[in-house]
Amino acid sequence: MLKQDPTPYGTMGDRDLGWMLGAFIADGWSSGGRTIGYAKLEDSKRDEFVRIMRALHQNFTVNEYAGVPKKGTNKLGVSKKIHLNSSSLVKYMAQYKCLNDANIEGRVALRKQIPQDVLQNGSEEMLFGLLSGLLDGDGSMVCNMSTGKPRYSAKYSTSSTFLRDSFLTLCYRLGIRCTVLTSPPRGHSKEAYTMMLSTVDMHTILGKLTCLGERECKIIAEWEKSPPAKDDLDMVPMSTEECKVLKKHINSIVDGSLHSVLSRTKKIGYRVGRKILQRHMAILEEHTPALHKRTLETNTVWRTITSITDAGKRTVFDLEVVGAKVFAVNNGLIIWDTMGMHVPISQAAVDEAYEFMPSKVLESPRDLSIMLTPSMDIQIGLFLLTAKSRIRDEKYASIAEAKKAFYANKLDISDVVTIKGKKTTLGLALVREVLPMDVAIPTEGVTKANLGAFMKEVVTKHRKDFNDIMGKLSKLASEYNYQSGVSLTINDLKTDSSVVGPLKREISAKFSKLKSKKAKIDFLVNVNSKLDKENKKWMGKHVWDNNLALTAVAAGKPGVAALKQLKFMPLILKDSSGQPVPVPITRSYSNGLTSSDYWAASYGARSGMIDRALQTSEPGYFAKQLLSVVDKQVIAKEDCGTTEGITLDFAKEGKSDFLWRYEAKTNKLIDDAYYRQLEAKGTPVKVRSPLTCELSEGVCAMCYGAHENGSKAQIGDNVGMTAGQTLTERGTQLTMRTFHTGSVVESGSNYATSGMTRIKQLTNLPQFLSGKAALANKDGKVESIESNPAGGVNITVSGEKHFGVVDKPVVTKGQKVKAGDRLTAGVIQPKELLDLTGIRNTQDHLIDELRNAYKSQGVDITRRAYETVVRGTTNTT
Ligand SMILES: [Zn+2]
Repeated sequence: MLKQDPTPYGTMGDRDLGWMLGAFIADGWSSGGRTIGYAKLEDSKRDEFVRIMRALHQNFTVNEYAGVPKKGTNKLGVSKKIHLNSSSLVKYMAQYKCLNDANIEGRVALRKQIPQDVLQNGSEEMLFGLLSGLLDGDGSMVCNMSTGKPRYSAKYSTSSTFLRDSFLTLCYRLGIRCTVLTSPPRGHSKEAYTMMLSTVDMHTILGKLTCLGERECKIIAEWEKSPPAKDDLDMVPMSTEECKVLKKHINSIVDGSLHSVLSRTKKIGYRVGRKILQRHMAILEEHTPALHKRTLETNTVWRTITSITDAGKRTVFDLEVVGAKVFAVNNGLIIWDTMGMHVPISQAAVDEAYEFMPSKVLESPRDLSIMLTPSMDIQIGLFLLTAKSRIRDEKYASIAEAKKAFYANKLDISDVVTIKGKKTTLGLALVREVLPMDVAIPTEGVTKANLGAFMKEVVTKHRKDFNDIMGKLSKLASEYNYQSGVSLTINDLKTDSSVVGPLKREISAKFSKLKSKKAKIDFLVNVNSKLDKENKKWMGKHVWDNNLALTAVAAGKPGVAALKQLKFMPLILKDSSGQPVPVPITRSYSNGLTSSDYWAASYGARSGMIDRALQTSEPGYFAKQLLSVVDKQVIAKEDCGTTEGITLDFAKEGKSDFLWRYEAKTNKLIDDAYYRQLEAKGTPVKVRSPLTCELSEGVCAMCYGAHENGSKAQIGDNVGMTAGQTLTERGTQLTMRTFHTGSVVESGSNYATSGMTRIKQLTNLPQFLSGKAALANKDGKVESIESNPAGGVNITVSGEKHFGVVDKPVVTKGQKVKAGDRLTAGVIQPKELLDLTGIRNTQDHLIDELRNAYKSQGVDITRRAYETVVRGTTNTT
């Protein structure tokens, strides 16, 4: 239960009106449009009801009816009732909507409720009067003496869900905590709800109650005098049904106090301590899961949110139920299914958030490329503004004059004409007005392929003005993209037979003659790579007469693979296990497939569906695992003082692998200018690396190097996280590739192992690997390679035998090997390599293999990110 914070009381009504409404809701009714009825045995309550009614509304007559004695006793079975006769009194009472409008068949009692208006606007006196009236009705206050000490409690029962909910609201307004016990329907009676009022809270408000019942008054008086009860927050209700189940399994119950509870428990509304409940819930769950679930739900009342108003600043708590949902808790309300959000709160966090605004962090730690990507329409606009379509003779004296011709539909934005005596296009002239002269515009225009390099140049030469320049450019681009109105027609989608014709002829001539599955796949993969080449060639050639080609070149949409399937043919697809299906699909999606094509294509579609459903969670999990390992790689010191490093070769590594590192010999930062000097020399450079940092915890600023925008790494920067996210962010894309490309086999990619599987093998350092390579155990000479009778081969290195090696040997007899050298093809088990050759060798191996796994999926990431991650995953300190 929660400490509640009720909203202030209203001004409506007094104690009398409240009590009367409470009594009426509990035991009153109206009938025939002219009678208000009220039934209660005690004279005092009936008299009070009439007295209040008289004060509120004078004109009515009262008829009293005696109760009917119960069969065989002299006790009255039915309470005495009174009828107040007045149609205007009925109207007066009707204004307090004590019945809900809901259309519920059967008993009126199921529609009973406390009027909303009263709950919202009632004064404190009125609401306490109302509670007293209700308790005088269907409420019950008892004093339990079974433990020797008096234990007081108060509860209220109803079958109406509306009354249940409004009663809870009433308690909430009065600051009384309350739990609900639901008892199942029995015979003809409906489900009943018993609201158990907190005894602690009740004790504090007893003085404000104005109950009339003799019993109630006596209990209230004694209760008030008794010392405050122990906090009963840990008491929870238990139903007869639950008790029955527990009794049945009483032998498995070890808890002595639960035994005594069960022997005493007969009626609904018994409350037990939460500790006992835990034990009993386990038994319930084991024997009656349905009841267990129900019990869990019993104490929860779900209500629909009808309005939301701003209540100003309050403290809100997140309540996380493990394995379930996150709830927001505020002001006694629990709101279901909220989302976890991280917002900067401390000043340091706010400063950091500003520092890492996207406009300030332009370069990706992945490959130092610019992370900003303009939207597709701006990309198309930029292309139209900067490319050249046809050469024309027109001459314009000014840009304004050329613009006029453009708007009069006499000039295209990419037409090469003469403006102010210079051969150019209107687009280029406009771009030059906002783009500094020292930034070159690619001769083929700004395309998807060179957009990154173009923006990189703007950043390099005009970092401070980058946002301003790109803002102006994108405004211009979106305007002219809109003016040019690029759209697709059915002709854009038509298959070009000059491209697919020769390939189709080759397939029909040769494919049917191929016998083995492997030959078929090899043949199709070969034709497929020709198709890919033709496809790209076609795109370049038809930019100005086919809008599909235009958007593909300008904005990369449709992508190469999608364009191929749409306009030419998918040719060969992968099934869900990643294997190519050896059936050629030779019609494009715009032509429509044949039945057998559809059959073959369904493998690709299915594979995409499976990947999307299953593999999106995998990289997420992988990311969490990896990040939890690398997150210790924090910049911990300015300089560890090492002279060690790794050697980078210009022939092997790209520019981004050198940039922003410190040269080990001179401790000089490699920036653009220094890189050019070093490149000119061409000799390999030894640079500081996270791998060779001598700090035992974290990594030093010198070994890590500078950030991607050239700024110095600060102590506390979590470079492990940056590197980890660089790798895992791409991991998500690796598995999503199948979905995006519809499983088309791409030329050159290794289709044997999926990227994700390999990456996981490398970062998890598994104990067992399928298809692992055999490594030489020690330095020596290969003495023999002979086949093993049980399968595979036996390789002997200087007297040491490797038995039953399954994979193909890569060594020959007589060859000299070192410990850790591979003897066969297959995957190297990093742990084995570590045992044989030591940590540095293994790290290098891991970096190379990881990089290859990413590269095989077309993802290139700077070496430093791999180094940082590998330092984290192989950290042995
Ligand atoms: Zn260091």
